[in-house]
Amino acid sequence: MNTKTIPFSRDFVEEIEKTTPTPFYIYSEEGIRNAAKTQIEAFSWNPGFRNYFAVKASPNPNILKILAAEGLGADCSSLPEMIMAERVGLTGESIMFTSNDTPDEEFIKAMKLGAIINLDDITHIYSVERACGRLPELVSCRFNPGKAKKGNVIIGNPTEAKYGFTREQMFEGYSILKRKGVRRFGIHTMVASNELDAGYFVETAVIMLELVAELSSSLGISFEFVNLGGGIGIPYKPEQNPVDIKVVSSGIRGACRKYLESNGIPMPKIYMECGRMITGPYGWLVSRVRHIKKTYKTYAGLDACMANLMRPAIYGAYHHISVLGKESDTPSVKYDVTGSLCENNDKFAIDRMLPELSPGDIVVIHDAGAHGHAMGFNYNGKLRSAEWLMRTDGSAAMIRRPETVEDLFATICWDAV
Ligand SMILES: *Cc1c(COP(=O)(O)O)cnc(C)c1O
Repeated sequence: MNTKTIPFSRDFVEEIEKTTPTPFYIYSEEGIRNAAKTQIEAFSWNPGFRNYFAVKASPNPNILKILAAEGLGADCSSLPEMIMAERVGLTGESIMFTSNDTPDEEFIKAMKLGAIINLDDITHIYSVERACGRLPELVSCRFNPGKAKKGNVIIGNPTEAKYGFTREQMFEGYSILKRKGVRRFGIHTMVASNELDAGYFVETAVIMLELVAELSSSLGISFEFVNLGGGIGIPYKPEQNPVDIKVVSSGIRGACRKYLESNGIPMPKIYMECGRMITGPYGWLVSRVRHIKKTYKTYAGLDACMANLMRPAIYGAYHHISVLGKESDTPSVKYDVTGSLCENNDKFAIDRMLPELSPGDIVVIHDAGAHGHAMGFNYNGKLRSAEWLMRTDGSAAMIRRPETVEDLFATICWDAV
């Protein structure tokens, strides 16, 4: 069980509404900082442990700054993400560049920044060389374990996944890199998304550490880090439990002893690229009920729509919904909670029991802090909302203004015909 709490009051929301009307996102600085700290503390046995926050989860420089201050790096997969990381002062090996189907210009930027380049494919060894004129000093390769590992729903089966090197290619790839003079090595995998089973991450670590042991002895190289990717899930449903990061950590520690220490292989730094677990539970989409409609079903139409948060519409994902001021009312009415897109899957919830709603009620959609605003879009001329941060002192800071119609029109060539 986890209780779905809201750290802000109706007054806080109404204060924000004086500047930007609903819908908007609110993030909790305290929640985000604590999540970052908890993970670091759990891995304190591993000198050099670092989480490279997956920028795509919540690409706002203010959030990156807060996380950088907590010691996190940035996991980037595109040029704009690298530029954002650079602008908040993250450079060099504080940036992990984990991309796929990568354009040359991105390898060039990563190289200029001195970022850690994590290759998605064996041919990218040559792409980097061609694009940049040389290979970086430190290279990491992304492993796709294929049949050795079952995937999960969002990310799918590894043998069907476009990412990473096969096992044979890992041996060949590092041997090419070594021959070409690369002296520092890392290794990466990412096989889960929103996974709640702590054991899954330990199993992945075992696969990686066994591989590290084999690669080290057969190629005579050593690994500075093992990057286990992101994918630690969050309990979107009240009846789910959060992943106990201490259990993940101690399982990985045990695996390091078993597969590395006992074989005399030096302990690598453990890196992760978690996005969701750092910001997911600490972001809320705040919206007002616009209409209540009764036809074959009862609809609560919000002023937010799937363009603000598309996870329910595309994955059927559950997001808990609270009604401010009605937290202790009985959920007595069954609603489809909708947005205003001309698209019938524009629903935040289907057949959800909620307290009786009226137009004007403030509806709070939970666990929207990762892959929420970031996945927003402009279909139907919907404007992307503002983002607000509840600072640790309780004050509100706007960290992104809402889009305007002129923003939406900014790229149009009006007079082409
Ligand atoms: C999406 C992604 C992440 C972050 O995943 P979370 O589920 O947010 O932890 C990390 N690494 C890579 C390579 C990704 O594609």
